[in-house]
Amino acid sequence: MSTGPGLSDFSFTFLGTGTSAGVPVIGCQCEVCTSDDQRDRRRRASICLQFTDGGGQERVILVDTSPDLRAQALDLRLDRCDAILFTHDHVDHTFGLDEVRRFNAVMGSSIDIYAEKETLDFLHRVYRHIFEAEKNINRSFVASLQEHELRVGEVLDIFGLRFTPLRLLHGRQPVLGFRIEALDGAGGVAPSQPGPLPLAYCTDVSEIPEESWGQLGELKTLVLDMLRPQPHPTHFSTAEAVSAAEKIAPGQTFFTHMTHDISHAGLELPAGMQLAYDGLVLS
Ligand SMILES: [Zn+2]
Ligand SMILES: [Zn+2]
Ligand SMILES: [Zn+2]
Repeated sequence: MSTGPGLSDFSFTFLGTGTSAGVPVIGCQCEVCTSDDQRDRRRRASICLQFTDGGGQERVILVDTSPDLRAQALDLRLDRCDAILFTHDHVDHTFGLDEVRRFNAVMGSSIDIYAEKETLDFLHRVYRHIFEAEKNINRSFVASLQEHELRVGEVLDIFGLRFTPLRLLHGRQPVLGFRIEALDGAGGVAPSQPGPLPLAYCTDVSEIPEESWGQLGELKTLVLDMLRPQPHPTHFSTAEAVSAAEKIAPGQTFFTHMTHDISHAGLELPAGMQLAYDGLVLS
């Protein structure tokens, strides 16, 4: 039984853990928005996976490109980006895409992006200067992207990681979550998973449809939407998020996409569950 080396040095970083307006909210003087606790400062939601692939090459994969991507990349000193996966087409998850042109320049190559068709269509509409660069009046410095369509039920294996897209409902809008696992050198799911893997990233969700529960079993880590204490039509509230996490029963749960209605130090959660914060690294 010969297998090549799998990936190594895996880390998962929360680039942003805030809702669409971010925290602090512009013009708000509430206790959370004026808090001295750095964990109450929340940029828009996205994550970064960093690791060394089986060939010894450093890899960086982003899930979503928030409007705060430039600041997030500078804070983490990112100097490359090998792939970007999108959960859905909302502005708070897509409006940093322009910034990735710097990675194109530094790496001298294009970047693979992966999303469902509806999200790719949205990106085409919003970023015509990137996807139809030949129509730009002046030649300008725009991102170079290679697009790929994601479909629920089809796994994506890249650089030694497997992403399984899973259906989530964000109000009435179907969006994606991702189950993330390491592969062994032979292309199967590695029997021993590094750090926080297997992990499921489920941001922007108000309902987990029946079809997706099968992809949420035996997780070491669950990352789940938790907007605020009050109910909301398109996001889990604190009670709904805790109840879903209890049902999924992973090894550990981190909540994300919070508003200023949640104070990091002020919210009590059951054992094994905690709020994520910007810059938190799981490795
Ligand atoms: Zn969002
Ligand atoms: Zn506030
Ligand atoms: Zn959204």
